[in-house]
Amino acid sequence: MKFTTHNAQETKTVAAEFAATLHGGETVVLIGDLGAGKTTFVQGLAAALGVTARVKSPTFTVMNEYLVGGQGVPSHYGQIRRLLHLDLYRFTDATELRALALEDERRPDTVVLIEWPNAITYDFSANVVVTIDHTGGDGREITINQS
Ligand code: ADP
Ligand code: MG
Repeated sequence: MKFTTHNAQETKTVAAEFAATLHGGETVVLIGDLGAGKTTFVQGLAAALGVTARVKSPTFTVMNEYLVGGQGVPSHYGQIRRLLHLDLYRFTDATELRALALEDERRPDTVVLIEWPNAITYDFSANVVVTIDHTGGDGREITINQS
């Protein structure tokens, strides 16, 4: 599926609509240049799931965790209780990633979101590839491929 957006809010809206297709257990990789809108997309997705914490790019931390629902607040989307957000921009080899034991985090209650998956050679077995391309100015083309 392809979408064209003209500002950050429209990208968040596309992400929110995409969020409604998630069930939990998915790994989503986000591909695009610096400033393409990968983190913006994650922000829209997280907000749609009811995350109230401010979602920032985890470039200087390895992995950010956001809890969805819980504490008497029902999750909007089925069994999803947790988002994990990674940004591999500064990763140089897969050793750092293996230390995270990401495969153990692939749980039915978790959606894993990974910016810059191509920074390293590693098979994420992604269920969804989101590609964001600049089309001039604030224009973006967002391609969502679900497998
Ligand atoms: P990335 O994580 O891909 O490096 P960010 O989401 O952090 O990118 O930043 C994208 C920047 O581009 C933000 O400052 C955002 O406001 C701006 N922007 C402008 N137009 C768009 C658009 N159509 N979609 C997403 N972000 C946009
Ligand atoms: Mg980012």
